[in-house]
Amino acid sequence: MVGFRPDNLTVLLTVRLEEPMPAHVSHADLDSLLARRLHVMAELQSLGDFRQGSLVERFRRCGKPRCHCANPGDPGHGPSFSLTRSAEGKTITQVIPAQEARTAGLQIAEYHRFRGLCRELTAVNEEICRVRLAAASEAAAEKKTSSNPSKRKSGSKPRG
Ligand SMILES: [Zn+2]
Repeated sequence: MVGFRPDNLTVLLTVRLEEPMPAHVSHADLDSLLARRLHVMAELQSLGDFRQGSLVERFRRCGKPRCHCANPGDPGHGPSFSLTRSAEGKTITQVIPAQEARTAGLQIAEYHRFRGLCRELTAVNEEICRVRLAAASEAAAEKKTSSNPSKRKSGSKPRG
């Protein structure tokens, strides 16, 4: 206990007790975050086929005067489907056979699920990093007050 004056130590401890603990530093929080991350990764693994873009449904009029599509109120020929997406500033259009339109729609929906899961995975990882950092800072602070901090120098530096 050389180097510590009891008075100072008391003050230090009092201050630390009075200050609210950083809100998320606890094993329970970390455990639930890790569980959350596992859950999101399992969801990612369960993803089916997915694709980007939007499905466009079109009806058209062929222009023949005796065709049913010439009647007012007739929806026209179709629907025909195409998938459009933008890549590097260009719009890419791909024709989707009508019988595949439903599948394409599901694939697009799955892509949005994928994006949502990515956002969630990023958020939960950032939270995990934050909690770990807070816990490490907490541990370092405890070490400082309970023992002499030993200075470590980093070992061999890589040579370029
Ligand atoms: Zn027609």
